Amino acid sequence: TMSTPIKLSSRADCESFLEKFDTLLLDCDGVLWHEDTVLPGIKEALSLLRQKGKRLIFVTNNSTKSRAAYFAKFKRLNIDANESEIFGSSYVSAYYLKNILNFPKDKKVYVIGESGITEELHLAGIRFCGSSDDDDYEFNFNKIDFDPEVGAVVCGFDTHLNYKKLAKAFRYLNTNPDCIFLLTNGDTTYPANGTIYPGTGSLVAPLIKALNRDPDYVMGKPNKPMLDCIIKKFHLDAERTCMIGDRLDTDIQFGINGKFKTLLVLTGVSKEQEILVENAPIIPDYYLTSLGDLAELCE
Ligand code: PLP
Ligand code: CA
Repeated sequence: TMSTPIKLSSRADCESFLEKFDTLLLDCDGVLWHEDTVLPGIKEALSLLRQKGKRLIFVTNNSTKSRAAYFAKFKRLNIDANESEIFGSSYVSAYYLKNILNFPKDKKVYVIGESGITEELHLAGIRFCGSSDDDDYEFNFNKIDFDPEVGAVVCGFDTHLNYKKLAKAFRYLNTNPDCIFLLTNGDTTYPANGTIYPGTGSLVAPLIKALNRDPDYVMGKPNKPMLDCIIKKFHLDAERTCMIGDRLDTDIQFGINGKFKTLLVLTGVSKEQEILVENAPIIPDYYLTSLGDLAELCE
């Protein structure tokens, strides 16, 4: 079907957009901020949304921070938010293992990833090993320890990824067909420092290649686990919910999968021409130059 996204470019456009929704799901990087810099007009736009009584839910694929660490970041950047409104792929991974997969108490998770994942596993009461314990690069087949209690391998973003971590994760998965292979998010790249770098989806490529199989579960946008986790916590009326993001294949597809309406902002990965070309595969319902423009347009 052919459809053209509606560009929000006047006060009337914005007001009619805002009247349609009670809940806004907001991607973080590329929408609210770029790394540690809040984008122009964001504080004003979020204040406007709060003032109009909109429920805000923050949704990020970045697994490096726990909910509590994101909450601290929101505070540090002076953005008003509640910890319970924040859904990161690390939180969702722990939630999913505990509540959906009923991960057994007598098993452990082997973690490739940073403190976001280990903090959330700890809070969920799930035992784990790996992560920063395997950061050192020393690799010796005779010294490598394998824990017989490992029943899942969770992989997220890890700037200390090394051969030892890959070898251990591989062995846990390869020797035990019941071992769960769970990925926080599938993003092959992510934007940083004005360019793009390899993301979690690329870091696990060696494991996927060696095992010759895909992960059992991928938590982050556009996938269902992230959606299921939000839906378990909040009742969402899909008709009156809009997903706002900067990336078509993750954020906008996530909104489409949830049967929500979608708004693309042009402050991140995806560009205007991608949605205006003929036969564009993913098209948002609305688009806006920047979320920060919302308050200005509504003034
Ligand atoms: N993964 C990593 C490691 C990142 O650093 C980022 C963004 O900074 C993302 C994923 C994407 O995050 P978001 O879903 O907030 O755009
Ligand atoms: Ca983003």
